Amino acid sequence: MTDQIDFATEYALAPESTDHIEIKDRYSLFINGEFVKPERGKYFKTSNPAKEEKLSEVAEADSVDVDNAVNAARKAYENTWSKMPPKERGKYIFRIARMLQERSREFAIIESLDGGKPIRESRDVDIPLAAAHFFYYAGWADKLEYAFPGRKAKPLGVAGQIIPWNFPLLMAAWKIAPALACGNTVILKPAETTPLTAMKLAELIQEADLPPGVVNIVTGAGKTGSEIVSHPDINKVAFTGSTVVGKMIQKALAGSSKKYTLELGGKAAHIIFDDAAINQAVEGIINGIFFNQGHVCCAGSRLYIQEGIAEEVISKLKTRMDALIVGDPLDKNTDIGAINSKMQLDKIKDLIQSGEDEGGNIYQSECALPKNGYFYKPTLISNVSQSHRVVQEEIFGPVLAIQTFRTIDEVIEKANNTPYGLSGGVWTDKGAKIFKITQQIRAGIMWANTFNKFDPASPFGGYKESGMGREGGLHGLYPYVELI
Ligand code: NAP
Ligand code: MG
Repeated sequence: MTDQIDFATEYALAPESTDHIEIKDRYSLFINGEFVKPERGKYFKTSNPAKEEKLSEVAEADSVDVDNAVNAARKAYENTWSKMPPKERGKYIFRIARMLQERSREFAIIESLDGGKPIRESRDVDIPLAAAHFFYYAGWADKLEYAFPGRKAKPLGVAGQIIPWNFPLLMAAWKIAPALACGNTVILKPAETTPLTAMKLAELIQEADLPPGVVNIVTGAGKTGSEIVSHPDINKVAFTGSTVVGKMIQKALAGSSKKYTLELGGKAAHIIFDDAAINQAVEGIINGIFFNQGHVCCAGSRLYIQEGIAEEVISKLKTRMDALIVGDPLDKNTDIGAINSKMQLDKIKDLIQSGEDEGGNIYQSECALPKNGYFYKPTLISNVSQSHRVVQEEIFGPVLAIQTFRTIDEVIEKANNTPYGLSGGVWTDKGAKIFKITQQIRAGIMWANTFNKFDPASPFGGYKESGMGREGGLHGLYPYVELI
C-alpha cells in the first residue's frame, strides 16, 4: 500500500491549456491606432520566467518614437477625444471593459506566462479587476459634474503613464481608464519584462475602434520611460514603480507645469493582537505576503505579533506555509508561481543574505522547487529588529519579517518606523483598537481583520516615500482634471 497517493499533500497536475491563445513572434509600437516599427528597428525579447524561455519580441522605442506617440495623442486630444460628448467617450470605455471580460481567459494565460504569477490569481484577480476598473470609470465619464459639484472638470491633455511588472494589465487599467473617462489621451509604457498583455490590450483597443491616437502604447526600457517624462508636450505623468525611480521622476519634473502622481514602494506592517481570531489571521497573513510571490507594493511584509501569542502564530504560519504549492504558474493548483526575473530573484537572495548576516533566523517551507525557472521558497525571518535591512527595505518577494510587541503604542511606533506609508493591516476583536491603529498608522490603505481587498471604487495610494496622489474611486479622477 506504500505506492498509494497521499491526497492530503499531492495533487494531480491541472495545467491551463494554452492552445487557444495567440502570441505573435514580434510586437511593434501602437501609435495612432496602428502597429508601427520603431524608428531604429530595435526589438528586445520578453520571456517566461517559469521556464526561462523566450515568448516574443517587443519594440524598443526611442525619442523619435515617443515624440510620434505624443504627437498622435495630442492630435487625438484636440481633434477628437476632448470634443466628444462625455457619454460617447463612456461608451468606448464600456466597450473596452466588455471585450476584456470576454477575452479574460486569454489575457489571464498570457499574464501568467509573461510574468510568472499563478493562473488562479491572474484569472480571479488581475483580469477581472482590470475589467472592473474600465467599467467603473466608464460610468464616471458623463457624470463628472456630480463628482465635482459646482465646478467644471476640464481634462489636462496628454498623459504619459509608466507602469511596473507586478500587475501589468491591472496597472494599465488603473492608468488608462480614469484618464480616458476625464477626456485625456494617453501614452503608456509597460515594464520591460511584462509587455505582452499591454500589447494584447493595444490589439483589443484597435478592435474596439477607439479613435486613433487616444491610447498609444510604447515598449522599451527605463530610457523610454524617461523620454516620456521629459517630453515637453506631456501635461501629466502617472508613474507606478520603485521609490528610487519615483524620486528621479520627481526631480526631472521639478519646475515644470506637468502634474504628476507617484505610486511607489511599500513595507506594510501587519499587526496581530492576542484577542484576534488566530486561524483567520494566519490565513490573512499568508495571503498578505505570499499573494503574487510577494511582488506586491502593499504586501504585508512586516509581521508584528503580540508577545503572548507569538509561538502559536509562528507555528501555525509554518504549518500553513508548508502546504503552499510552489511551481508552474499555469497549474491551477499552484499557490506561488515564478519570481518575475533573474534580477528580482538575485535581489531577494541578497536581502535574505543580509538578514542572515544581521542575525536573523530563516525558516523556509519544505516544498520542492522546479528545476528550471526563477523560484523562491516561502520564507519567514525572525529574530530581527527595526534597524535591519529586511525590516526597512522592500524585498518584493515571498519573505515575511517577524517581530513581536507588547503594547499598542509600541506597535504603532514600530509600524510607522520605515520610510514607507502605503498600507497596513490589523487583526483584533476590539473595534477601539482598530480605530486607534488606523488613525495613527501613517498609511494610505489600512485593512482590518482582512487583507489585500481591492475595489475600483476605493482609492489607493501612499504617504511618505510610498508616493503621492490616489488611484481608484472618485479620488482617482482628480489627477486627470483641472477644476474651474
Ligand atoms: P521600477 O524599476 O521603478 O520600474 C517601473 C517602471 O518605470 C518600468 O516601466 C520601468 O521600465 C520604468 N523606468 C525605469 N527607469 C525609469 C526612468 N528613469 N524614468 C522613467 N521610467 C523608468 O519598478 P519595478 O521594479 O518595475 O516595480 C516594482 C516597484 O513598483 C516596487 O517598488 C513596488 O512597490 C512598486 N509598485 C507600487 C505600486 C503602488 O501602487 N504604490 C503598485 C505596484 C508596484 P523597465 O521595466 O524597463 O525597468
Ligand atoms: Mg516576461
